[in-house]
Amino acid sequence: MNKIEVNQLTKIFGSNPKLGLEKLNQGKSKDSILKEYGQTVGVNQASFHVEAGEFFVIMGLSGSGKSTLIRLVNRLIEPTNGEVLIDGDDITKMDKQTLIQTRRQKLGMVFQNFGLLPHRTVLANVEYGLELQGVEKEERQRKAQKAIEDVGLTGYENSYPKQLSGGMQQRVGLARALANDSDILLMDEAFSALDPLIRKEMQDELLNLQRKLGKTIIFITHDLDEALKLGDRIAIMKDGQIVQIGTSDDILENPINEYVSNFVKDVDRSKVLEASQVMRKPEVVTTYKNGPRTAIRKMEEVGASSIFVVDKDDNFKGLLTIDDAIRSHKEEIPMEEVLIDNVYSTSPDTQLNDLIGIAAETKYPIAVLDDGKLLGIISRVSILSGLVLGKEKDEVTTS
Ligand code: ADP
Ligand code: MG
Repeated sequence: MNKIEVNQLTKIFGSNPKLGLEKLNQGKSKDSILKEYGQTVGVNQASFHVEAGEFFVIMGLSGSGKSTLIRLVNRLIEPTNGEVLIDGDDITKMDKQTLIQTRRQKLGMVFQNFGLLPHRTVLANVEYGLELQGVEKEERQRKAQKAIEDVGLTGYENSYPKQLSGGMQQRVGLARALANDSDILLMDEAFSALDPLIRKEMQDELLNLQRKLGKTIIFITHDLDEALKLGDRIAIMKDGQIVQIGTSDDILENPINEYVSNFVKDVDRSKVLEASQVMRKPEVVTTYKNGPRTAIRKMEEVGASSIFVVDKDDNFKGLLTIDDAIRSHKEEIPMEEVLIDNVYSTSPDTQLNDLIGIAAETKYPIAVLDDGKLLGIISRVSILSGLVLGKEKDEVTTS
């Protein structure tokens, strides 16, 4: 039996959804139903199923009906027509009590903007759903603690959301959904607001979690790379309809129409790697204030021969080599004066192609900066090797 099965699901927004539905059945388009009858087609006769443990991605342009569809699955939105079976039970026909119970037990949801309660600690946020269910304190703290551990936030239980970075706040959102131990996770653009590096990290962790916990996931994104990386299967929506469902290979190789092939063309464009996709976190970073001794100790700890230096606001200042750090320490020269400040920097969206010249010229890694702040670093070797390997792969696929 499928974990989720959606049949002929339709949602029409407006004062007269029945009329809209009738016109839809007569074959009228979303556009003309809006123009002639003032009704908005949110979702148009969507049918699909999701197997237990499957990672199902929904993609489409803004306004294509993704959010409406996912909210119909847990019936945060009432459908105009069609059915949604969760473990075989039609959620659209459930009475209020059964619906609430089903949602709590089976359907966790993670939103784009985290949806955290600002005046509650991390722990209290994660516990919230269990509290609503009337789970007693000891048990809900135990479950919340486990979920916090699963998303890597141990130690932050007593922090408040505003004290956390965006990535960490979204981990709290994820932990809250996990704490309920529902089999199904519904995620609406859950990572879209995150920085590229954090986003990649979260994608990897979500895949790990899914493998470990065996969740069934419906994940909405408008980012093709994200869809291809995460999805076992991908559904593509246009004007409320699902126009194609398939594995990434199906969709890349046999796009059903021009709309889908336009998405696929994006893949070719995104094959050109950007700085943010190959950068990594600098192993060691220090500030002027900490002085050369600290810099030396940090380099020693990880066996690095240089360290990146930022000021107290994380603005990138330059690179300090071990030799220069020792000189600064022995001869009491301020770190600022021995710092290598001609390290190349680039923005996260710069294409690797544009960095080859620099990579060939410089001895140092390239700093990836966003508004002056150090996001990551790119080693010369990752640029030069990435291009060579990327080319070889292309040659294989085109021959
Ligand atoms: P997506 O998530 O793909 O950007 P949505 O599901 O939010 O798309 O929207 C699909 C369509 O339904 C859009 O035309 C949107 O304007 C319309 N819509 C969504 N929610 C409502 C609502 N509450 N009332 C009226 N129209 C809505
Ligand atoms: Mg949306």
